[in-house]
Amino acid sequence: MALAFVLDPVLLRSERMGAPLVQAYFSALASLRAELRSRGSELALLEGDFAEQLTAFAGRIGAGALYYNDDYEPEAIERDARVRTALEAAGVAVHSSLDHVYFGADEVRTEGGAPYRIFTPYKRRWLDQHALAPRMPVRSNRASAEKLIARAEIGATRDFPEPEEYGHRSSAAYPTCSEAGAGACLERFLAEGGASDAYSLQRDLPALDGTSRLSPDLRAGTIGIRTCVARARSAMEGASAKRRASLDVWLSELIWRDFYQQILRNFPHVANAPFLPATAAIPWREDELAFRAWCEARTGYPIVDAAMQQLNTTGWMHNRLRMIVASFLSKDLLLNWQWGERYFERQLADADLAQNNGGWQWAASTGTDAAPYFRIFNPVLQGQRFDPEGAFVRAMLPALRGVPTKYVHAPWQMPPLVQRESGCIIGEDYPAPIVDRTETKTRVLAAFSAALGRA
Ligand SMILES: Cc1cc2nc3c(=O)[nH]c(=O)nc-3n(C[C@H](O)[C@H](O)[C@H](O)COP(=O)(O)OP(=O)(O)OC[C@H]3O[C@@H](n4cnc5c(N)ncnc54)[C@H](O)[C@@H]3O)c2cc1C
Repeated sequence: MALAFVLDPVLLRSERMGAPLVQAYFSALASLRAELRSRGSELALLEGDFAEQLTAFAGRIGAGALYYNDDYEPEAIERDARVRTALEAAGVAVHSSLDHVYFGADEVRTEGGAPYRIFTPYKRRWLDQHALAPRMPVRSNRASAEKLIARAEIGATRDFPEPEEYGHRSSAAYPTCSEAGAGACLERFLAEGGASDAYSLQRDLPALDGTSRLSPDLRAGTIGIRTCVARARSAMEGASAKRRASLDVWLSELIWRDFYQQILRNFPHVANAPFLPATAAIPWREDELAFRAWCEARTGYPIVDAAMQQLNTTGWMHNRLRMIVASFLSKDLLLNWQWGERYFERQLADADLAQNNGGWQWAASTGTDAAPYFRIFNPVLQGQRFDPEGAFVRAMLPALRGVPTKYVHAPWQMPPLVQRESGCIIGEDYPAPIVDRTETKTRVLAAFSAALGRA
């Protein structure tokens, strides 16, 4: 058995791939290669057209079969079909397995056999099926029991890739992925007295390290969803009611991940259009300046800017903040949610079409089970509620360090004297708000009402 990874230079250089995701993936590949080398084998790195490369490689090592994991992205489905056709034509059997989700897109269905569109009944059915037939992780050292082809037989493969080769700049601040690192991260998160104990209370507070931070590893495949679910379940055994409740909330988040994956597979139009067709009529504004201010953390709303600063500098953003900035872009700025989705895609180390699209469409009220369109997050109130002392915004935005807590989420309200005393002059040290929220609220409600025929 040999493991191969095909680098797609067109995709790697495309607008759709950002440095944090590329770096996370390459770090995962580096750890896989080290693991294989420690067993005397090698990761075969190929580059170019998948079908051509894999057919040639199979021929070179005399492979009788190719094994790969399913991927629900529409382009990946087409690519995998092309690979299958080419390999089968070359006499190589092709087998796929389901690995990136716990239950496949056709496994959790309504009584009538239809895919779910709403999360809560989906979750209920998911939990019922899990109770009947839980899926266990495949032991990661399974390959050691099989015969790995020796390094010499794999032959020369291309040099190990660096993000720079494809036009991406690496950063030490971006997440890296490895199986060992992800396993340790999961155990740290689940340890008694650790973050999982208070997850239900702390997961919304961006100043705390209250979530697992496993999303880049789940994306890169250095940890599997079955491992996460099995460990969450075993951590519940004999645990206090409070800890069990917290772990239940975490399990729900993992089920959200399966939910959005099945949405993408069963309703692939979401990749390029709103889930709810009526919302295609919303007259999104084409305001590039407002979009740039949002991207560059210059909206004048501290919780939004601090969140974007976290994204731009670390390649990750806290979930509560993703909801706040997505609401701000699509509702307050009335910009097309797809602009935000594309920007996230390029900036996140965990960028994933299913989750990203689901999160954006939820926030923009165009998706499945979406927030009602009249629910518009108020960034001042969200900041005061989830970052009450302003610790997060001050850590991300140095200009606000001296601003009194009373004003830290609405610094434009500081009287001139307080601005001088705190070293934060609005319009000089920190921007004035780019929009007046009383006006934007009226504007977005009118736009949605008109599009949905509810004026
Ligand atoms: C606008 C928007 C865009 C998003 N884009 C992505 C994305 O590209 N990739 C991505 O992995 N997640 C995305 N999410 C979901 C969520 O924000 C991240 O999964 C989470 O912040 C990752 O942090 P964590 O691993 O510490 O999560 P934890 O709270 O520890 O949760 C554990 C795991 O559950 C899954 N999960 C958690 N929350 C959600 C959710 N709301 N929806 C779906 N799955 C969830 C993730 O796989 C996560 O790693 C997005 C959410 C929004 C609102």
